[in-house]
Amino acid sequence: MGTNRNAGPSGKGPERGISRRSLLIGGGAAVVGGGALAAEQIRRVWWRVPGVDKPREPGELDYAGARWIAASEANWRRADRPGDYDVDRVIIHVTQGSYASAVKVFQDPAHQAATHYIVGQDGGVTQMIRELDVAYHAGNRSFNERSVGIEHEGFVDRPQDFTTAMYESSARLTASICARYGIPVDREHIIGHVEVPGTDHTDPGPHWDWKRYMKLVRAASTGPSAGPSATSPGPS
Ligand SMILES: [Zn+2]
Repeated sequence: MGTNRNAGPSGKGPERGISRRSLLIGGGAAVVGGGALAAEQIRRVWWRVPGVDKPREPGELDYAGARWIAASEANWRRADRPGDYDVDRVIIHVTQGSYASAVKVFQDPAHQAATHYIVGQDGGVTQMIRELDVAYHAGNRSFNERSVGIEHEGFVDRPQDFTTAMYESSARLTASICARYGIPVDREHIIGHVEVPGTDHTDPGPHWDWKRYMKLVRAASTGPSAGPSATSPGPS
């Protein structure tokens, strides 16, 4: 999330207020506004057909080190990633507030935004939305659909908020996400909210130490491109 300078009802909240009428219209002519939302809603209904949904357990986690607190269902959209959308980005955010305030707003249906994870200054990881689902955090629909969002407790203008515990814990989380979806560990695929096309957000800001963070992510990576011990079994 971070500094949304124009936070308001007309802000980044997507998929809101879908009327029965727009649902009925739906379909191919839908190009803009409500029409596109209706098409999305229909797709969502489709995923609810028995046999299409993946089984889910309440409180189930995607990252073993996390604890679960559910975000309001208004702040995300049910999906079946990576079956319906490829996941190829991790997006780094800064909360512009405390951990507690971030949890609170993500539980608030009026907020219309939330990330999958929050990492606290103590390194604690909280998951609030399943990675299967599309969280509203990037302010860009396709980037929401293709990404996992991670909030970090702090303020963009307070470098001391970005603690060693936070960097290390977040790096392990990002490395896990990258390994599970085959996402390359580089700055093209691990990006700041500020780098999302069309965003007016500035997080994680100039004090986020990308060099340090990427080094930690690489060190925590267990993916095929990460290990120095990768030996070819075939003839050389
Ligand atoms: Zn953000």
